Amino acid sequence: MDFSKSEILYKEALEHIVGGVNSPSRSYKAVGGGAPVAMERGKGAYFYDVDGNRYIDYLAAYGPIITGFAHPHIAAAIKKAADNGVLFGTPTPYEVQFAKMLKEAIPSLDKVRFVNSGTEAVMTTIRVARAYTGRDKIIKFEGCYHGHSDLVLVAAGSGPSQLGMPDSAGVTKAIANEVITVPYNDVEPFKQALEKWGDEVAAVLVEPIVGNFGIVPPKPGFLEAINELSHKAGALVIYDEVITAFRFMYGGAQNMLGVTPDLTAMGKIIGGGLPIGAYGGRKDIMEEVAPLGPAYQAGTMAGNPASMLAGIACLEVLQEKGVYENLDRLGAMLEKGILEAAEKHGVTITINRVVGAFTVYFTGEKVENYKQAEASDGELFGKFFKLMLKQGINLAPSKYEAWFLTTAHTEEDIAETIKAVDYAFLHLKG
Ligand code: PLP
Repeated sequence: MDFSKSEILYKEALEHIVGGVNSPSRSYKAVGGGAPVAMERGKGAYFYDVDGNRYIDYLAAYGPIITGFAHPHIAAAIKKAADNGVLFGTPTPYEVQFAKMLKEAIPSLDKVRFVNSGTEAVMTTIRVARAYTGRDKIIKFEGCYHGHSDLVLVAAGSGPSQLGMPDSAGVTKAIANEVITVPYNDVEPFKQALEKWGDEVAAVLVEPIVGNFGIVPPKPGFLEAINELSHKAGALVIYDEVITAFRFMYGGAQNMLGVTPDLTAMGKIIGGGLPIGAYGGRKDIMEEVAPLGPAYQAGTMAGNPASMLAGIACLEVLQEKGVYENLDRLGAMLEKGILEAAEKHGVTITINRVVGAFTVYFTGEKVENYKQAEASDGELFGKFFKLMLKQGINLAPSKYEAWFLTTAHTEEDIAETIKAVDYAFLHLKG
């Protein structure tokens, strides 16, 4: 495969855009470096780079593109917005229609607000929880990513009974001191943190199914314990469903798992590919938000008609019969094929899959928390990534990301992908 135009474009990008990319995860730093492939257009499960190469895509733009690229129903909705005015700065019927759809799908949402990104959605749920409880601290889980607002760019202290450390330059120690980070899927350290700081904790922030150190489901009882212990301590529970909402079923991971948070943050899929975020939850908590209450949150672009119409159209596609069954069926097929290829070539892997999303870890251990994901072989993943790319299969360039199936993938795509995996595993050790 010839990548020369991507390489030239990357050199030029480096001159003008910091690091040559508009989001650090797009660089190939974690997979041995090189010019990231630049895409020109996409249709269905495929996209095409500036050199004219075709790829079967499993990145799905880090999750939003669950219907594949340029889905005709979503494209028509975006065209409607383009023709009728993309922004008014006034209420519109589309935001009301969309809010109703989200509420019907996720019953814990008494009231919602639209924002422009997952980052904003999570950031605001924390502010609202602080306003409601009058407390300052939050507890989060190691390895979970919640966007790039200051409060959630905090890493674990050196033990469960320590406060966090800034994970990025520019995040102050004072902010990190408000954050406690404990391991995912382990109730004991969480309990200890609450014993120490329980009466200062405004909220516990958790991905109900992790998507950010690969796909990691909660152990039975873990989320229930979080709910119970948090509420006992007077803290709210926030689910970050930016990746998980509408990923595994029509609704949130909370519907699937039968657990209920106080507040939920969403993004990605609900925008049909356009910028979006949304948060919502219990009415008495949401009424803290301006103009009803003292917690301020606003946005020039919030609820813009283009994102609303694209989001409505995307959910309409996901309401079609058999969508999630098909994602699960293709996911199982791909998982089986990858495991068989690994066995054939003596490559040690672990796969965590939930419906149409999964992660292939180069480790023989179970992956139930961040430390286990971290211990998987990143160098081997880097080689695997490049071997797949050269065969026209696009994955996320990091061992911590997921493969996302879309409604556009077919059995033929899965078969082609398994063949590529077989070749990659054969050549991995060389
Ligand atoms: N929360 C989770 C779980 C995410 O995975 C992400 C992004 O990957 C975010 C929040 C931030 O969303 P955005 O990139 O739209 O700001």
